Amino acid sequence: MKTIDDFNFKDKKALIRVDFNVPQDDELKVTDDTRIVAAKPTIDKILKDGGSAILMTHLGRPKGGVEDKFSLKHIASKVSEILGVKVIMAKDVVGEDAQEKAKNLKPGEVLLLENVRFHSEEEKGDKSFAEQLSKLGDIYVNDAFGTAHRAHASTAIIGEFFPNAKCFGYLMKQELEAINKVLKSGEKPITAILGGAKVSSKITIIDNILPAIDNLIIGGGMTYTFIKAQGGKIGKSLVEDDKLELALDILKQAEKNNVKVYLPVDNVCADNFSNDANMKTVPVDQIPDGWMGMDCGPETNKLFAEVIKNSKTILWNGPLGVFEMENFAKGTIALGDAISEATKNGAFSLVGGGDSVAFVKQYNYDEKVSYVSTGGGAMLESLEGKELPGVAAVMK
Ligand code: AMP
Repeated sequence: MKTIDDFNFKDKKALIRVDFNVPQDDELKVTDDTRIVAAKPTIDKILKDGGSAILMTHLGRPKGGVEDKFSLKHIASKVSEILGVKVIMAKDVVGEDAQEKAKNLKPGEVLLLENVRFHSEEEKGDKSFAEQLSKLGDIYVNDAFGTAHRAHASTAIIGEFFPNAKCFGYLMKQELEAINKVLKSGEKPITAILGGAKVSSKITIIDNILPAIDNLIIGGGMTYTFIKAQGGKIGKSLVEDDKLELALDILKQAEKNNVKVYLPVDNVCADNFSNDANMKTVPVDQIPDGWMGMDCGPETNKLFAEVIKNSKTILWNGPLGVFEMENFAKGTIALGDAISEATKNGAFSLVGGGDSVAFVKQYNYDEKVSYVSTGGGAMLESLEGKELPGVAAVMK
């Protein structure tokens, strides 16, 4: 795996694919700068070497043409503030202005290209557009983990125009190492916690990780498909009736792989899907008619915490209950506490994919776990065992 540490950027123009697809408010001000901050170490190293940086990214979902609200000029000052250097803004992506500014770029300077998705060729993975982009810089650096699962012109196709001068930035390196640390070289026992709504959206992940892990904790909405498949009473809980066989098959596969599966033993249920609903705690397989399971109960939280306490490597994806409603966030909070504690005692913990990342940020667990992935879809596809085009393009 070639990283920017394998190159000296002195007098070189680094063409860096970053993921600055940041959230903005109505006035287009950046509301969460995590992704810009995450790319800073890579850009810093290049500038420190005596090189210059040409940044390319997408922002939002323009329909393949110029749309002012998606212009990167609205975030240029934020990028400049975070990097601590002036950012030169190009008026286009591969047009005259970008070419001119790239040509005149001096060591220590940063050029931000316009939104790569102002060209429909970007998402189509168009080769000649990728070639035009490639002419702007000397070395291609991919640091956009958030878009690494897309075979777009600037994230993947461009790689072939830099056969000997391409590498990963620090963020990509960290993300790939974190996944490897869990699935390839994790210290045992390795525990994966999968929550969230549906079995169907997690099945490929389960299939892929079973050979690597020792314990599988299952929670959240998908619990009830397993419980019903085993003959339990689940009331009106979320269930995928066409996945009952699949649930039993997962349990069999786990056994074959010597993976111990932990399902909730009790749960907090509600008489309707609302924070103000009536609540009661019952065994997970005895939910009364008209009630639905919304969160793990106290016995479950204890059981899961015990497993986590004894783990050396932890992977977490998906909440254990309807955490968006305060009354049903307790199971997920208990899980966050247990993972934090295990991490403090030396375990490696990786949180990845969508809602669990939102949860750790909202409840301030992000400093207490080892690594929080910046890429939702890209992390999920990695866990599914898929090769990410953005990674493959640099490895080739
Ligand atoms: P996912 O995107 O598959 O990780 O699912 C996340 C969603 O699962 C969140 O919006 C949670 O509210 C939801 N969820 C978690 N537990 C339950 C449950 N017991 N019943 C219904 N939805 C749930």
